[in-house]
Amino acid sequence: MDSAIPAPDDDTLELDAQDALQELQRENQALRARLENLLELAHRNQSIMARHQNFDLKIIGANSFRELITNIFSALAITSELDVVSLVLFDKYGDLQQMLADLKIDLNEFPHLLFLRHEVELSQPESALRKPQLGLYQSLAYASYFTSFNKKPASIAIIPMRRQGRLIGCLNVGSFRADRFQPNMATDFIERLGSIIAICLENVINNERLTYIGMTDPLTNVSNRRYVEQRTLEEIGRARRQRYSIACMYLDIDFFKQINDRYGHEGGDDVLKEVARRIKAELRLSDTLGRFGGEEFVVVLVNTNLHDAILVAERIRKSIASQEFTLSASGTCQATISIGLTTIDEKSNQDNASVVARDMLQRADRALYQAKNGGRNQVRCY
Ligand code: GH3
Ligand code: MG
Ligand code: MG
Repeated sequence: MDSAIPAPDDDTLELDAQDALQELQRENQALRARLENLLELAHRNQSIMARHQNFDLKIIGANSFRELITNIFSALAITSELDVVSLVLFDKYGDLQQMLADLKIDLNEFPHLLFLRHEVELSQPESALRKPQLGLYQSLAYASYFTSFNKKPASIAIIPMRRQGRLIGCLNVGSFRADRFQPNMATDFIERLGSIIAICLENVINNERLTYIGMTDPLTNVSNRRYVEQRTLEEIGRARRQRYSIACMYLDIDFFKQINDRYGHEGGDDVLKEVARRIKAELRLSDTLGRFGGEEFVVVLVNTNLHDAILVAERIRKSIASQEFTLSASGTCQATISIGLTTIDEKSNQDNASVVARDMLQRADRALYQAKNGGRNQVRCY
């Protein structure tokens, strides 16, 4: 009788062995492919790590506010493969923006850097910024973080930045891919990024503050003499290269001693501060205003001819003479100012910039002397 299980013949044995071999080969190929995938992933992770390390080094190494912000905007989007990056800084009293403007840092260079007076200017309450928010972009909640982008992201991460327990701003990133940032994702990496950027920001802002203090007159908050002199040399150099003229004004408050005598030193200080403010209000960002001592100021107007400089000087003179000054103690007082004006044009290619600068100031001072002799409260040119 045949058995229930027939014994395999030689041909069947050979086929089984071939199947097993093929199976092993397939398994082997699958393992190899998986290994290659893992290796590729490891390489990719390594290169991502290296990119982030490079980014960290780049922003940690930034010495100035401009350099840091430039680096963040130029490198972060590439390093982290992001479609939008914006930065919000809280500037409650506007003094940070004012300082940066005084340091001639043109914030128009950075359309994605937003200054908000207060957290309430955000489309969400501050409490929303206790921890990073990840998820789909919703205009109601996130519009104020991405105002500078026409094409809004599909998913976003809002990363609060804190220093010493204070919310200084937030880093806002987004992708056109809806699945890039999801609410359940781990946030340790972006929190670390937010912390590094916050420390770097605080560091460069402190550096800028030191520079600012060193160049600012503490009473009037306009530049001090040292800064104006240094800047005048730079402006003369630039004017020569770019072939435009520079105007210079020497301004001196009239009968200031009497103001002090009548209203006290404190009253005099009030007038000095307000005079500086009124002069500044008539100038462009690119112009330089400095207190040269006592009740004397110097203004350097770049790319300005004599005709335009006279218009500016007249505006300044009128803004001081036409409005009373409110004194902090009580009451008001009147003040006027005399202005001496001169220009140097692109033809003045004399020896060196410091000779030109000294000559320019002397001529403005002589013009001021004429304005005083002519009866004060007037503009004279030399
Ligand atoms: P003129 O019209 O010829 O310019 O007369 P003036 O009185 O303005 O000029 P003068 O140079 O005689 O007086 C300047 C005064 O400014 C004398 C000084 O006490 C005062 N002064 C200088 N620095 C300060 C300051 O920081 N605060 C105050 N309140 N007064 C100052
Ligand atoms: Mg004087
Ligand atoms: Mg005076």
